[in-house]
Amino acid sequence: MLLPKLSPTELRGRGMTSQRTRDRMVERMAHQGIRDERVLAVMANAPRHLFVDEALAHRAYEDTSLPIGFGQTLSQPLTVARMTELTLREAPRRVLELGTGSGYQTLILSRLVPELYSLERIYALHQRAAQRLRRLDAKARLAVADGSSGWPHAAPFDVILLTACAQALPPTLLEQLSDGGVLIAPLEEADGTQWLTQVRRVGQDYDKRRLEPVRFVPLLQGVVD
Ligand code: SAH
Repeated sequence: MLLPKLSPTELRGRGMTSQRTRDRMVERMAHQGIRDERVLAVMANAPRHLFVDEALAHRAYEDTSLPIGFGQTLSQPLTVARMTELTLREAPRRVLELGTGSGYQTLILSRLVPELYSLERIYALHQRAAQRLRRLDAKARLAVADGSSGWPHAAPFDVILLTACAQALPPTLLEQLSDGGVLIAPLEEADGTQWLTQVRRVGQDYDKRRLEPVRFVPLLQGVVD
């Protein structure tokens, strides 16, 4: 499908979606502890306002998550930055993201990692994200699937990133990590709290570490056409 090119105004935004607004978002994130300059630079240049409904575009750079339809949300900028920072710490070659959603986290990662794969279970969200990412020339391989099975043909991955909260770690995903690779995922504990969790594969062993409390939509099963 041939898409009309984005006009420079659409891309840059204006008023509440202008470069100034993006710069302020990045300054806030730097104060809130994001240290990786590469992440800050990419997020300063990424048109987050194109990843939500036009009616919400003026709120795109607020420090908040936003609805993207189908009961799903685009994570707040700080969370996206944090997950990206954790990913880059691994200097990964091949990364798998589960939960393409709007495609915003995918765009940020695509500018920073050599090989990116992303899975989404809701066809309509996948399609919208694919269209946006194509218009922005993002290099990522996208597919519709229940991400719990991973992407066996592309494995192993140096990082597997979940942008939806799992109740248990899917063993299939752990098996698709390279030796030394990490899974970064919100994980729900028995008391219902969610923790950003990092699991590193060392041979056949897995070293699990809780990082910080988070709030994500749940990882669900199956595909929605
Ligand atoms: N990273 C996204 C966040 C979207 S919210 C963004 O930047 O917009 C989480 C996404 O995970 C939703 O789109 C949801 O449909 C998707 N999801 C939930 N369970 C999934 C699964 N098992 N496999 C693939 N995607 C899943």
